[in-house]
Amino acid sequence: MRLARTSAEIFVPDGLSVHKALARTTHMAVGAHQDDIEMMGVAGVLECLQHEDRWFAGVVATDGSGSPRDGLYRALSDEAMRLVRRREQRKAAVVGEYGVQVLLDHPSAATKDPSNAAVLNDLIALLDAARPEVLYTHNLADKHDTHVAVALRLIDALRSLPREVRPQRLLGCEVWRDLDWLIDADKVVLDVSAHENLQAALLGVFDSQIAGGKRYDLATLGRRRAHATFHATRATDTASGVSFAMDLTPLILDDAHDPLSFADEYVARFAADVHDRIDRLRRR
Ligand SMILES: [Zn+2]
Repeated sequence: MRLARTSAEIFVPDGLSVHKALARTTHMAVGAHQDDIEMMGVAGVLECLQHEDRWFAGVVATDGSGSPRDGLYRALSDEAMRLVRRREQRKAAVVGEYGVQVLLDHPSAATKDPSNAAVLNDLIALLDAARPEVLYTHNLADKHDTHVAVALRLIDALRSLPREVRPQRLLGCEVWRDLDWLIDADKVVLDVSAHENLQAALLGVFDSQIAGGKRYDLATLGRRRAHATFHATRATDTASGVSFAMDLTPLILDDAHDPLSFADEYVARFAADVHDRIDRLRRR
């Protein structure tokens, strides 16, 4: 496996060869930063946990060097921070029993440059080697540029592969902006009630981010709990944790479908839902 950055790393927690570790993949998450996978792809981690025939692959696109820092980590240089974040991602891979963890180590700017082929080529090589059945990434309505850029690069990478090796399902998941606003018919509901303790551990290893002043661990678990209750207005809670996703699979079934108009359609259905309810209930 040749990746663009010489500093890229492929970490296999159980020591299998890289080739075999990638080839056993069934579920994969491609995120922009260290900790994004644990916030958005935990459904895949749980699907694979303790299953010999299912393996989770984590892929982080950027080097994580530019992240905010405080406390213990306040004085760290960008380079030292990059190493801390890598170490944290490897810890998560061990805790979550991932089949493989890939750190592509691209500068954030490279992922946001549509003309930069390095990120695209890395993703193509990984997808071809791993051939996941289910693929998790950022949703197209996320409000972090790097997240949306990574999702767009991933869609481009998938479209360059023959159809028979593309995943059966491509899901756009929640980090910076949740998907509660999707109309219910557009929501993919992922039950992540199981192993809440392990979910807490997966989020908790990213100490440099949490000590940086952001309780991503509590916020992410709180979001999952909130979705479980607020998803259905009438039914009683059947799950204690829910994540929502946007089904991006149509974009890899039809290469002509523009991701921009695809996202616009979700927003239009949300706008119509708000509009129609008020229109129906207002005094005339
Ligand atoms: Zn991120």
